[in-house]
Amino acid sequence: MESILIVRAPRPTIRRVPIAPPLLRWFRRVARDLPWRRTRDPYAVWVSEVMLQQTQITTVLPYYDRWMKRFPDVRALARARLDRVLKAWEGLGYYARARHLHRAARLLERGRFPTTKEAWETLPGIGPYTAAAIASIANGERVPVRDGNVHRVVARLLRIEAPISSSAAQREINAFLEREIPARVPGDFNQALMELGQRVCLPRSPRCGECPVTTLCRGRIAGVQEDLPRRVPRKTVPHYEVGVGICWKGDRVLVARRPERGLLGGLWEFPGGKRRPSETYARTVTREFREEVGMEIEVGPRLVTVPHRYSHFSVELHAYHCRWRKGSARALANDGVRWVRPRDLARLAFPTANRKIIEALLRPRSLPSPDKTQRRQSATR
Ligand code: SF4
Repeated sequence: MESILIVRAPRPTIRRVPIAPPLLRWFRRVARDLPWRRTRDPYAVWVSEVMLQQTQITTVLPYYDRWMKRFPDVRALARARLDRVLKAWEGLGYYARARHLHRAARLLERGRFPTTKEAWETLPGIGPYTAAAIASIANGERVPVRDGNVHRVVARLLRIEAPISSSAAQREINAFLEREIPARVPGDFNQALMELGQRVCLPRSPRCGECPVTTLCRGRIAGVQEDLPRRVPRKTVPHYEVGVGICWKGDRVLVARRPERGLLGGLWEFPGGKRRPSETYARTVTREFREEVGMEIEVGPRLVTVPHRYSHFSVELHAYHCRWRKGSARALANDGVRWVRPRDLARLAFPTANRKIIEALLRPRSLPSPDKTQRRQSATR
């Protein structure tokens, strides 16, 4: 009888790289003593994880301490006014995080904290990364965290050559993490991996000589660690030129509160907006005042120019002293308007770029009398 030769397709390589033991040993030796690492209290872990989104640990530390004194538990946060919450967050950036914390605290005030990643994700402002971090640290759930640091480390460890954003690379990373995360201390494993990405496996010049998993790292063994992860070229970040008016009426200046939903929602700012092509800044500011607060103004000398970068775009704020001419200020494109003495501006919550304008405004020589503003106007247009 004729024999039949069965040829099987090659099985996919199982990438077993047992990183947990050396990684955890290293983490126990080098872990920084951080206030949120001394507790498993879900509230404290939640607040710290939200603050740490896109923000360095050293920046977060004083904010975290102040926050926990002002709002020591979920009930205190739920009962605080949003203005007070935003003020406590002022300077930390990405203000939607503070609004979401506040909203979620109100939802949780009478209930119980979630105990799984899935349940944490139902709260406002908690995405898959934060939910996994909280659930693994506070609840001991065996769920891996995934962020840019973790992706970079794993891409190097496994020597993943596909672009890091591709579904093939993501699938491989997920499968690896789900296999390697230990059931006993998933939170420590996640923190260790993040810490390795922040301190050792740096985007440029990884410190392989100090790395606890260097003997297991396929990227390092092949000498290609600095070329990984592979990326598809980025699009250029848009840039906007913005005209801003510091409008004086007597000894007060006008500020407007941004609509609660949207970028920097609920924060105060000086009225202004994007400059249109071939528009002078004086025209931009005059037009924006008409559209935003229904007022006529005269634009005076430039106070300061403030460059600022957000995650998806950059801006340059060109701030001008202005003088009120007619019309009462109305909240046409925002949630409120207020005339405030410059020294009282510190009581309101402003985005970082506007706070730099306030700093310039409070310098002794920056406060013009209204008449001076008018006289110098023509020279600066
Ligand atoms: S050996 Fe080098 S490239 Fe590999 S994980 Fe460690 S630091 Fe990163």
